[in-house]
Amino acid sequence: MRGPQWLERGMHHVWLPYAQMQTAPSPLPVVATQGRTITLADGSELLDGIASWWTACHGYNHPHIRQAVQAQLACMPHVMFGGLVNEPALTLATRLAALLPGDLERVFFTDSGSVAVEVAMKMAIQYWLNRGERGRTRLLAFRGGYHGDTMATMAVCDPDEGMHSLYAGALPEHFMAELPVDAASTQALDNLLAQSAGQIAAIIVEPLVQGAGGMLFHSPDVLLTLRQLADRHGVLLILDEIFTGFGRTGTLFACEQAGIVPDIITLSKALTGGTMALAATVARRHVFEAFLSDNPLHALMHGPTFMANAMACACANASLDLFACEPRLTQVAQIEAQMRSELEACRHLPGVVDVRVMGAIGVVELARIADMNALKAALVAQGVWVRPFRTIIYLTPAFTITPAELSRLTAAIHTVLAHQGQV
Ligand SMILES: *Cc1c(COP(=O)(O)O)cnc(C)c1O
Repeated sequence: MRGPQWLERGMHHVWLPYAQMQTAPSPLPVVATQGRTITLADGSELLDGIASWWTACHGYNHPHIRQAVQAQLACMPHVMFGGLVNEPALTLATRLAALLPGDLERVFFTDSGSVAVEVAMKMAIQYWLNRGERGRTRLLAFRGGYHGDTMATMAVCDPDEGMHSLYAGALPEHFMAELPVDAASTQALDNLLAQSAGQIAAIIVEPLVQGAGGMLFHSPDVLLTLRQLADRHGVLLILDEIFTGFGRTGTLFACEQAGIVPDIITLSKALTGGTMALAATVARRHVFEAFLSDNPLHALMHGPTFMANAMACACANASLDLFACEPRLTQVAQIEAQMRSELEACRHLPGVVDVRVMGAIGVVELARIADMNALKAALVAQGVWVRPFRTIIYLTPAFTITPAELSRLTAAIHTVLAHQGQV
C-alpha cells in the first residue's frame, strides 16, 4: 500500500526523533485527530492510548480550547514579551500562582519543557551567585530521571539514558544519586549533601513518577525526605512536573501528595491541553527576591523569542477552565480504578514482571522486549496507538476517555502480550 504523495516526498527530508533512520519502520501518516481518535491517511483510525506524549489531557480538538485559539488568533497571535506584555500570559501566570501550592508565584514562560528545566537550573545557580555564594554550580539529580534533551538537561538525566559517556567532555558534570527510597539510600544522600552541599545549587527530581526513564514510581515520602534534606543542607529543591503536572498522578500537581512546596517547579506537556507548545518555570518568592537588586548583572538573562506566546497562553487558560468546570480529577480516579482492575489480567502473562498504576498512568513491564518493532506493529494492528519503550508498555490516556475506549486499550495490550510468541 502506498502512502500519500507528501509522505513519500517528505520522508526524504525529515529527521525523526529517537529513530535510527536506516532501520526505523515508516511512521504513520496522520491527517486528523478528534477526541481520542487519530485518523490516518488511508482513512483508518487508531484509538490513542498515550495522548501525544502525555499532552492531550482533554482529548484532541476540544471545542473550548479550539474556540480560545481562534479568538486569540483573530486579535493577536503573538507579540514579543520583551518590554511588552499580553493579557493571556498575565492571566495565566496569575492562575498558575493561585493553583500552585505555597508561594510559588513567579512564572517565567518558555516554549518547551527542556528549556523550562534549563531556566530552572539557571535560576538555581544564579540564586546563590546573587547572594554572594560562589561555587554552587552543580545540580544533584537521580538515576532513572529524565529532564529533557538539550545539552544542559541531558547532563541531569539518567547517566545511561542521557548518554553521558557518549557525550563525555561535552556535558557539564553533576552529582548523580539513587532516590532516597529506604534508610540506606537516604543515609547515602545525606552523606553526599554533607560533603558537597557547598558545590550544589539545587536538587532536581521528577515527583512521584520518573516518566521517560521507564514510568518508575516512588512514594510521597521520598519527596518529603528530599524537602527535609534540601532544607537541612541549604540547597534548593526543583520539582520537574512537566509530566506529572495537571492531574496525571491523581492530584493537580504531584507535590500535593507529599504536602511539600519546591523552590522551583517546571510545567509543560499538558499545560495547553496538548494544543500548542508552552512551558513555565515557577519560582517561590524568596528565589525571585534573590534577583532583585540595583545590579543589572543580578537579573535573569534569558528570553526565548516566542516566550509567553499569546495563542499558547490562551490555550493554557482554556485548558485550566476545563480543569475547573469539568470533573478531570474524578475522571483520573475512575481511569486509575479501571486500569488497576483491567491491567491486572496481564500480570500472569509470560514475560510480564510488573503491573503498576498511578493516577492515569498504567504500566505493564516486561522482562525484555525482544522485537520492539514487531510489538509496535502488533499494537497498531489492534487499532490502538500505544508506544512501548525500554521494557514497558504503558497507557497515559486523555482524561476524557470513555470506559469502553479504555477497555479497548487494556484489551489490546492483553491480546498482544498473550500472543507474544507469534509476534
Ligand atoms: C518531556 C519532559 C521534559 C522535556 O520536555 P520537552 O518539551 O520535550 O523539551 C522534561 N522533563 C520531563 C519530566 C518530561 O517529561
